[in-house]
Amino acid sequence: MKKLADMLVEKVDEYASQMRKCPFCGCEIGITICDDEGNEKHLDYLDDPYSGIAFKFNHDNGGCILCDFNEISPIYSDENDDFDKALSQLVADWNGGAE
Ligand SMILES: [Zn+2]
Repeated sequence: MKKLADMLVEKVDEYASQMRKCPFCGCEIGITICDDEGNEKHLDYLDDPYSGIAFKFNHDNGGCILCDFNEISPIYSDENDDFDKALSQLVADWNGGAE
């Protein structure tokens, strides 16, 4: 059986590849794994995700006006740990806002 961390990294990559580039600086937008409070987490946290699993935008291209948005990125999680649901919402929100 695959580890949760491996499964999530694959999922995050898959969804991140569907995200449009930043309309201001053209950089790629990533997805960061965090806990339910939005604290960024290392992958080993996923061995024991005591504070929940959620996702945030990751847009860190110094100098872009949208970078501040990264600071206030909404936190995407699902109470049933339906990661596909949380991630597709994140991607839909970003792509919708980037049009
Ligand atoms: Zn940008």
